[in-house]
Amino acid sequence: MKFRRLGRSGLNISEISYGNWLTHGSQVEEEQAHACVKAALESGITTFDTADVYANTAAESVLGRALKGERRESLEILTKVYWPTGPGGANDRGLGRKHIMESANASLKRLQTDYVDLYQAHRYDHTVPLEETMLAFADLVRQGKVLYVGVSEWTAEQITRGAALARELQVPFVSHQPQYSMLWRVIEPQVIPACEREGLSQIVFSPVAQGILTGKYLPGAEVPEGSRLADERGSKMIARWMRDDVLSAVQQLKPIAEEAGVTMAQLAVAWVLRNPNVASAIIGASRPEQVYENVKAIDIVLDDDVLKQIDNVLEG
Ligand code: NDP
Repeated sequence: MKFRRLGRSGLNISEISYGNWLTHGSQVEEEQAHACVKAALESGITTFDTADVYANTAAESVLGRALKGERRESLEILTKVYWPTGPGGANDRGLGRKHIMESANASLKRLQTDYVDLYQAHRYDHTVPLEETMLAFADLVRQGKVLYVGVSEWTAEQITRGAALARELQVPFVSHQPQYSMLWRVIEPQVIPACEREGLSQIVFSPVAQGILTGKYLPGAEVPEGSRLADERGSKMIARWMRDDVLSAVQQLKPIAEEAGVTMAQLAVAWVLRNPNVASAIIGASRPEQVYENVKAIDIVLDDDVLKQIDNVLEG
């Protein structure tokens, strides 16, 4: 495994992280979830990403059980707060102090740990002053329950304001978690430059676009058995990519991957890691073989010619 620093901080995370959205506690049975975590650990992955809201808290619990007995110092555990997880109360959502404190404590219990390495605001909350949110994060850091702080899917402007407050309150604000893949490059013009200025790294999600970039979904073909598309909840999430023009373009990446001697999934993961502001690609997996395959992307360097060919296919 290779490691990269998160922003200007002292925290190293593995270039490939393992995340359990839509899998643990839902699509994937407990035993299979543990097998995926084991595959991740065997592959050298030390960074695990989850969220309180995944499978309505069950994903954190599964991850806690799967990592039980591992040496805590050798792991980086990341989770998030924002969406409601309970039956719903006036404060059971968002980035207000009450919800953040209660959610953090509940996450620690489910993850069976005394602290998380990175605690992330899952989205921006327009209804709560950012000062209140940052102060709650600052207090969690002072209590030792959270080591570093990050955010997810914030705009460049929100990140810049957050960074200014974090400096004032001495919060170690180190990362942004966006969607990023060959098919979704929204962060390139503004978010990445803002993060570079503020000393934050990207920890990117859905690097294989939920399976689309593996090339396994063919235009007009039957839904592959056991895939995210075949899963009731997963199919809603992946639906946006299920267009013939997208699926046909993805098929044109196949010869590029073959020529480079890599699989399409590896090409997609290596592509996000080519960006120096990306500290880690969070991969999902419904089975261990996918972890073993995708993690090999850390050794792939894509030259300018390959990158140009990819651009030509996807911009064409
Ligand atoms: P990916 O783009 O890596 O998609 C993972 C899925 O693609 C797998 O579960 C599998 O689904 C399929 N797949 C992966 N590799 C292969 C392969 N080699 N061959 C065939 N199929 C493959 O990432 P996710 O969308 O799962 O997101 C990863 C993580 O990012 C999440 O777990 C979460 O931690 C984080 N995330 C964060 C968000 C946020 O808002 N901050 C939002 C979304 C994700 P299958 O086998 O079922 O088809």
